[in-house]
Formats: sequence, structure tokens, C-alpha cells
Amino acid sequence: MTDRLYDNGMLMEFDAAVISCTQIKKGYEVTLDRSAFFPEGGGQYGDVGTIAGVKVTDTYERDGEVIHLCDAPLDAGAQVHGAVDKDIRLRRMQNHSGEHLLMGFIHDMTGFDNVGFHLGEDEVILDLNGVIEAEQLLECERRANRAIAENVPFTISYPDEEELAALDYRSKLDLTENVRIVTIEGIDKCACCAPHVQAAGQIGIIRVISSENYKGGTRLRILCGMDAFELIRQRMDSIREISALLSAKPDKTVQHVKRLSDENISLKKQLAELDRQKAQSVIDSLANEGRGSFCVFTEGISRDMMREIANSAVLMTDGAAGVFGREDGGYSYIIASKNLPLRTMAKDINSALDGRGGGSDEMIQGSAKADRSTIEAYFGNISAVTQQR
Ligand SMILES: [Zn+2]
Repeated sequence: MTDRLYDNGMLMEFDAAVISCTQIKKGYEVTLDRSAFFPEGGGQYGDVGTIAGVKVTDTYERDGEVIHLCDAPLDAGAQVHGAVDKDIRLRRMQNHSGEHLLMGFIHDMTGFDNVGFHLGEDEVILDLNGVIEAEQLLECERRANRAIAENVPFTISYPDEEELAALDYRSKLDLTENVRIVTIEGIDKCACCAPHVQAAGQIGIIRVISSENYKGGTRLRILCGMDAFELIRQRMDSIREISALLSAKPDKTVQHVKRLSDENISLKKQLAELDRQKAQSVIDSLANEGRGSFCVFTEGISRDMMREIANSAVLMTDGAAGVFGREDGGYSYIIASKNLPLRTMAKDINSALDGRGGGSDEMIQGSAKADRSTIEAYFGNISAVTQQR
């Protein structure tokens, strides 16, 4: 079985002998006598890197062996130098160790456990089996960052059966042999198979990105270390841009946006009132002697209000009442009728008015490219008698 070297999480390079190499569809499965590569497990992806210059694209475990998926073959028996991709390992380790540290404080304060952990490429998710209060979370985050500042040591141990039975630790396992315990001095003990930092200072920073109620508990998104730094940098860049757009100091952007939003709401109200007034004046001036089909032309009136006009106009005709609103490249229209089968007529109407649209027998809507005189001539010709529904 592979001798695993990642109890020292900072060990990224090592020498080993190739035990076996088997070709599979995705590449070559290589086993070594010893390895610092961490195989996928506990919510964390397997390490990547190189062995003797050959790319390792994934690492996983099978029957106790660490399998390195390589993109070229290695000779069994060869002495090789392995190098874990340091950037990726460090990033994952910072996030994973950060999760243990934060969970240590959360568990201590609330008794909640982490019942789901995912360390993805750009997010770290942990699910708590209880709903944590915002203030509790903030306090745990603060304590975790304080522990980082104090550089609290992380240690790995393998207690024997007797020690294990007496040990209070998170992620309690049924196993009694080879249980790997990650201890953060004075803060947390948790069963975990992954590589960890040697002391909290290497985590750098822990930030809770979001917290939401999830399946009766809480789903937290966190970022630690370099990932947290990148996120903070991006967010600060974005605040700087917003602040320039608003001509406001970065710490005053919230008040500015709030004021803009209030102004926007009030302007929308004013516009709606103007729209209503314009529509009302069209409704007041509607006239149709003879009750034949007729149409009315508007400009700068919303579709909702055009519909109101159509609802009034349709009462004045036995044929169809059309409301046309001037817009780029033609008109938008709403046509209503109490008698005509508009839905079946829509095709003819659209072809006569160079338009598109449809709806029900009572009302159709769409747009038309025909000019005003063509539209007026068409409405003069719609028969209220021959096409009754
Ligand atoms: Zn863990």
C-alpha cells in the first residue's frame, strides 16, 4: 500500500519508486511506493502535478492504493521525482483547513455539525444541520480570524482504539482503526483524511461569503486564503468603479444608490401618472359616428394604456377598434372587437398592415409597418356584417 506523505501538508515534492503503470481510456494509472499526492476524498478533489515531468491530471484511491492518473506511461521500478501543483494544493488546503477552524467555533457555539462539504474550483460550501444566527456566524468568523492571527498549530494524529473511545471529536466514525484526527490546538478535533496547514497562520484569512437557510439548516459559502484575497480584490475593484460612476466615496456608495433608487421609484410613478393622463385625454376625444370599424393613432403611450383606450373604443363600434402607437419603424397595435373573429382575421390584418401579432377573438396585439393612410384605409374597409363570429 502506498506510503502517504501528506500528513505534512506543506510537503509538495518527494522521491519514490514506480510500482505499477496501467493504461486506461483516460491515461495511465500509476502507483508509487510513497506519495505526497492526496487522493480525492472528504469533499476535496485529488491533487494534480507531475511525476518525472509527466502530468498527473487526477489522484484517487482504490483498495488502499493511491492512483495517480498520468497522461504518459512511467516504467515500473523507475525512481521518480513527484511534485504536487503547489498553487492548487495550497488553495485547497487553505480552504479546507479554514473550514475546520470555522466549524470548530461554530460547533462549540451552536453544537451544529457540518453535514455536507464541497471544496470546488471556485467555491467552498458547507451545510450545517441547524440554523445559525447572523450574529453568531459573525462572531465565529471573527474568532477564526483571530486564531489565524495567533497562528494556532494544526496537528495530525492516529489515536489507538482506547484513546479514540475517550476522544471527543467531530465527524465521529464507526471505525476504530487508522482514524486520522486533525487537531487545532484548543479549538477543534475532527476526523479527516485530507492534507492540512501546519498552523492557522497559513490559512491567511477566512471570509463567509453567504449564508442561507437550506433544508432546515444553513448553507454557508466561504473562501479562505488566496481565494479570499482574490475575491476581496475583485469586490474592491468593482466598488471603486461604482464609486467613480456615482462620484461618491467608496464608503458612501450605499447611500447614493439608495437615493438613486428612491428617485427612480418616484420618477416611475410620475411617468405612470403622465401615461394615464395622456391615455385619458385620448379616451375623452374618441368619436365614431356610424359604428363602423375605426382606428386611433397615439404616441408615447404605454401598451397597458393603449389597451385601456382599446377597451373604451371597442364600445363605440360594431366592427373593430384599432389603437396604433407610433414606434421606431412603424406602429405597435392593439385591435379589439365585440363581434369580429379577430383571432382568425389576424393573418389577413397582418398581411394588409405588413405586421405581426395575434391574440384572441376579442383582442389582438402586435406591430405593423404600414403607413398611417394604409391603416386608415384598411379600417374603413373592415366589414362588421360579413365576418361576424
Ligand atoms: Zn476535513
